[in-house]
Amino acid sequence: MASQTIDILCGQCGMFMLRYQKKGSGQLIKLYLERVVEPDSLSRLKSVSIKSELPALICSDCGTRIGLPQKGGTYRMIKGSFRRKAVK
Ligand SMILES: [Zn+2]
Repeated sequence: MASQTIDILCGQCGMFMLRYQKKGSGQLIKLYLERVVEPDSLSRLKSVSIKSELPALICSDCGTRIGLPQKGGTYRMIKGSFRRKAVK
């Protein structure tokens, strides 16, 4: 399956949240930390296996929550809380 690089922005204020290597062209529902390109502070969390040790994905600017931690280094993205932008 082809992958594309996308930027995830806060849906409220447009703040850059993360850069992601997405497989397929469908909606982003589940986010895998191992496919996070930036920032390092987020991608290095992929070694964390315990859900309770993963922080929620929160916009540092306006506090909007865009993703909730799940088991096994994944996040469930909150629909409508973020925007995506293709990276060329
Ligand atoms: Zn924001």
